Amino acid sequence: MKVIVPVKRVPDTAGEKKMDPNDRTLDRDAGEAVLCPVNEFAIEEAVRLKEQQGAEVTVLLVGPENAQPIVRKALSYGLDAAIQVTDDAISGSDALGTARVIAKALEGQEFDLVIFGNQSTDARTCLVPAAVAELLNLPSLTYARHLEVDGDKVVAHREHEEGWDVVETTLPAIVSVVEAINEPRYPSFKGIMAAKSKPLTVSSLADLGVDPEQVGSNAATATMYEFAERPPKEAGTVVEDDGSGAAAAALADWMAEKKFV
Ligand SMILES: Cc1cc2nc3c(=O)[nH]c(=O)nc-3n(C[C@H](O)[C@H](O)[C@H](O)COP(=O)(O)OP(=O)(O)OC[C@H]3O[C@@H](n4cnc5c(N)ncnc54)[C@H](O)[C@@H]3O)c2cc1C
Repeated sequence: MKVIVPVKRVPDTAGEKKMDPNDRTLDRDAGEAVLCPVNEFAIEEAVRLKEQQGAEVTVLLVGPENAQPIVRKALSYGLDAAIQVTDDAISGSDALGTARVIAKALEGQEFDLVIFGNQSTDARTCLVPAAVAELLNLPSLTYARHLEVDGDKVVAHREHEEGWDVVETTLPAIVSVVEAINEPRYPSFKGIMAAKSKPLTVSSLADLGVDPEQVGSNAATATMYEFAERPPKEAGTVVEDDGSGAAAAALADWMAEKKFV
């Protein structure tokens, strides 16, 4: 079985984000970049398929040239190979543009299952997995909190607000997983060392046959018109309990004013 895990380089979730006032996009080089934490759950699921069913796992990243440490980080979990798609023309792509590049990269590969994270921690559109499935005309099972691969069939427990549905389809298929699916392991020292020499294929848009006009900021169907800095934190309101019940009333008034009740 061949599995591909698309992963994204994102700004450190805990770091302060900066917007570039010139093109009104996130300044992705302003802080430390990391492997999207949601993708660790997709990687863990792939590693389990490798351990249980001998799956061969490839990681796929669409991102700038300097994203290579993130590719190696993904490989350090014990994955077999990596593909990095990098091209200046991809910069400024919206979710559809990104999905077009990922779909073309997948088209050139043999795979049974593609395991996405359900979202990224920076843009969080949750659009890419379904868009890729649509572009490749493949079945997609998104928001999986449990996955089982049995022969040519994949079963997913698909999470929604009231619980989950059990859904299944035949391979090849696209799935996306939520963070409840597993507990990702840490890479081992052996894995970190081995990641340095795992095969990495770097492709451009021309290599994949992607029309540069279909990606990048000019092709983006989403436009950022305005953004504002987050206002500084205000001091909180302290309600002291003097035992008279006035504190409870004050708290209730405060919650009503803030529309919590
Ligand atoms: C006008 C505009 C300009 C933008 N410019 C840029 C830019 O210059 N650079 C930039 O990085 N983003 C840019 N973005 C954000 C970009 O559109 C999204 O980050 C990107 O399309 C993916 O969407 P998402 O992160 O919401 O993915 P989601 O759908 O939330 O992610 C789901 C999953 O898809 C996979 N995935 C997502 N992105 C990638 C990737 N790049 N490679 C491999 N797998 C991936 C991961 O498995 C992820 O967990 C821009 C957005 C807009 C609207």
